[in-house]
Amino acid sequence: MATRRERIISLLEERDYSPSELARTLGLRGKGSVKTVLEDLKAIQRIVKREGKVLLIKPAECRRCGFVFRPEIKIPTKCPRCRSEWIEEPRFKIEAK
Ligand SMILES: [Zn+2]
Repeated sequence: MATRRERIISLLEERDYSPSELARTLGLRGKGSVKTVLEDLKAIQRIVKREGKVLLIKPAECRRCGFVFRPEIKIPTKCPRCRSEWIEEPRFKIEAK
């Protein structure tokens, strides 16, 4: 039985996912589920690094004005340029270096 983090790692080795998609795929529910996934991703970034792999981050983007955020393991709530809260989540993927 794989742990949740191990399951996330195998998913991200297949293709890219957003935190919400990961939470849904893992069957996590409730308000804290995306936050849990973000915490896991931070740990996973360190774990895969030790294995010679890299966690790729496609940065979050404002869906109104196209502003691109920094590639970070978090979901911004508001666009600094146009103040919109319509934000496309960042996407993550694991690749060999
Ligand atoms: Zn914007």
